[in-house]
Amino acid sequence: MCETRDLTEPVAPNPAFTRHLAAATQEAKDTMRYHEPTQAGAPEKLSGRLEELVDSFREDIVGLSQHLHAHPETAFEEYGSVDKIVEILNKHGLEAEKGVYGVETAFESHLENGEGPTIAILSEYDALPNIGHACGHNVMAATGLGAYLGLAALVKEDPEAFHGTVKYIGTPAEEGSSGKEVMARGGAFKPEDMDAAIMLHSYGYDLADQIWLGRRVLTATFTGVAAHASSQPFMGRNALDAAALAYQGLAVLRQQVPPSDRIHAIITEGGTRQSIITERAEMKFYVRSKYPDTLKDLSRRVEKVLKGAAMMTDCAVELDWDYSPATLGVRTNDQLTSRWVEAQRKRGREPLPLGVVSEIIAASTDFGNVSYRVPGIHPLIKVGAEDEALHTRAFAKAAGTPAGDKAAVDGAYGLAQVALDFMTDAKLREAVKEEFEAAGGTVDVEHYFDD
Ligand SMILES: [Zn+2]
Ligand SMILES: [Zn+2]
Repeated sequence: MCETRDLTEPVAPNPAFTRHLAAATQEAKDTMRYHEPTQAGAPEKLSGRLEELVDSFREDIVGLSQHLHAHPETAFEEYGSVDKIVEILNKHGLEAEKGVYGVETAFESHLENGEGPTIAILSEYDALPNIGHACGHNVMAATGLGAYLGLAALVKEDPEAFHGTVKYIGTPAEEGSSGKEVMARGGAFKPEDMDAAIMLHSYGYDLADQIWLGRRVLTATFTGVAAHASSQPFMGRNALDAAALAYQGLAVLRQQVPPSDRIHAIITEGGTRQSIITERAEMKFYVRSKYPDTLKDLSRRVEKVLKGAAMMTDCAVELDWDYSPATLGVRTNDQLTSRWVEAQRKRGREPLPLGVVSEIIAASTDFGNVSYRVPGIHPLIKVGAEDEALHTRAFAKAAGTPAGDKAAVDGAYGLAQVALDFMTDAKLREAVKEEFEAAGGTVDVEHYFDD
């Protein structure tokens, strides 16, 4: 049967596959449970008091989430957001330094209580252009703040609660700008400065862990020779042809890469007039893969396609990799994750294990680069409905609802509890470190793709 339509509107994508994915997720959700933790964590009495204290900051936590939601600021422009967070810290007698690690909208505050381990709690607060807090960073910022306030209050009333340092770090420009890697290159997230780093992300499910893909950006510029497209095309060398062949070449490559690899390409410049053989064409790419070494391999293969396209068309090609720093996938620390799960269960949440939500549904985050420097976690907390995806207007709306407020407080307690467990349980710290070392230890992220 031949389908006919008037071609004035695109065809809406068939949601069949999404429905199958949702059904598989539902089935896994009903049957899979995160394993029981192997370490004890903090003493029960201390944990109970911490939970009360975090809850007592509900007004500040929800207030911040709502304030950021109403005043979204995009990457590197989050001045008002930082001012608001620091204002709340100051109100509770906590100092913070703005503009740290060479990034104006980053900040850091320290809670020092003698000798001991150091853990960092991270807050993201950047929004997306036009659609506001569609990634729920307003909620996430509030969880970091609430966790830090709770721990500060705990140690204030009981100086023996834990010893060591809790750092609260504001990390701007996650969206498309790898803000944490920019900060890292300015001196942040050094293994000698912290033993672990924790944060969470907003989502449509409570997930203990999820796959995040590493990501690199690339610009390719093809240069040809301009000529009259009608009278002397044989004297031209067509840069748009090179771009078209590169685009097709990548389409062919896609079938022979691991299923979690992704290549997204756009042509940003393709000529100036139909009567001129295109002299200059420009393309931009995202290249994503699950592991650092597979991302390196995919990068090489993409490069070969682009060079091949230049070769076929007698054009020159210039490749500009990582104009914004590359990010790696998240290396989750299971020992810390199991403490997160325990804390969330106290709040009536059941964070689901890896594999419940298909790994096909995977994006990227700059926290990956932190997690290859120090042990870390980046669990997901339910803010929106299960079928509301990140970066949609629906999710932006959800991030400002009572469900978002509840996630902010539950998440704040969760992060605070993981930090307290880490500070008070030496065996847990040992297990965290052991797991991190067994996974390959600290990686030189900045220079990983140099060769
Ligand atoms: Zn996002
Ligand atoms: Zn996000």
